[in-house]
Amino acid sequence: MIETAYIHIPFCSYKCDFCDFAAFAGLNHREGEYFEALSQEIKERLTNTQESVKLSSIYFGGGTPGMVAPHYIKAILDQIASRVELSSDLEICLEATPHSVSKQKLDQWKALGVSRLSVGIESFHEDELRSIGRDHSRQEALRGLELALTSEIPVVSIDFMYGLPTQTLESWQATLDEAIALSQRYPALKHISAYGLQLAENSPLYGRFPRDSDSYPDEELFAAMMFLLIDKLRQAGFVHYEVSNFAKEGFQCRHNSTYWKNRPYLAFGVGAHRYVDGVRSANWRSFNRYIRGFMENEFVEEIDRETEIKEAVMLGLRMRAGIDLAAFSSLYGYRLEESRHQEIERLCEAGYLSIENGRLAITDKGLPISNSIIVALI
Ligand code: SF4
Repeated sequence: MIETAYIHIPFCSYKCDFCDFAAFAGLNHREGEYFEALSQEIKERLTNTQESVKLSSIYFGGGTPGMVAPHYIKAILDQIASRVELSSDLEICLEATPHSVSKQKLDQWKALGVSRLSVGIESFHEDELRSIGRDHSRQEALRGLELALTSEIPVVSIDFMYGLPTQTLESWQATLDEAIALSQRYPALKHISAYGLQLAENSPLYGRFPRDSDSYPDEELFAAMMFLLIDKLRQAGFVHYEVSNFAKEGFQCRHNSTYWKNRPYLAFGVGAHRYVDGVRSANWRSFNRYIRGFMENEFVEEIDRETEIKEAVMLGLRMRAGIDLAAFSSLYGYRLEESRHQEIERLCEAGYLSIENGRLAITDKGLPISNSIIVALI
């Protein structure tokens, strides 16, 4: 059963210097033709999907979905609702930048059923925002957040980044303290994501801060930032449920949890990746190519049993609760703790992994090297 759908809205007011998503600035004049193609794609793919669909989550990501006129969002929701069953407690999440938020849009989103707003803040420091090429200021971040947090949308999530050029442990602490203070003042702030900066090979950010620049935090400082994040948010009552994600109890992001549980999901729009009928596939990342052939794939991979097991290990270990070994074995017919006995024992002895109540999980100490741990187990 497919329970979640991702809708990619690629328009942005400015292309941030670190961004490797299918996101485009200066294409707003083509919104009409994009939404026409997107709507057609949804119609055709939902007709062709073999698995049964009952959606409990629709996620508008991007890009900046908050930037487009809400009537486009409505048209997409109507198209989906006319084709598949929706759960009575459907969660609709929409990503926005703080300067794309307005009182009028918040009211319109609420009327459309948007129940969760994810606002990309990245940092509360002017110099850090400039260093990564964001086009909003600290003032705009605070203004947009305040509007969102006092609106009728019940759940607001903030995105941050750490490991940024010019960022220090002190400035990161100040950003976290400010977020925590906001969560204490506004109960709607239920979720915080914080991603360590990772740059693609030819990222424009390297133009100003080359790869070997001293402006980036070194490995030790990066790990200290990660531990500070975990300590601060845990003390503030957020549950650390995935490597980069924290939520007040019961407010985990439904959509992302589908990915991490290795469950199928639909996806539509330029560059969107889906996992349907045992096949992972992705639309063209090129805007023009997508418009010309929205049903064509840039990438297709049939997921065989071995790949499915590897992905389940990789994704399961990103969850802080880890992998339920008995459930894993009955689902995949594969006893991870036996097949990888030596590696698991070595990593447990070193304090990087733990097995508690039948669950295999990466410990706090193991988090900075989580990628190497996962590689050792797949
Ligand atoms: S706003 Fe988000 S999606 Fe758009 S360019 Fe910046 S990081 Fe990328």
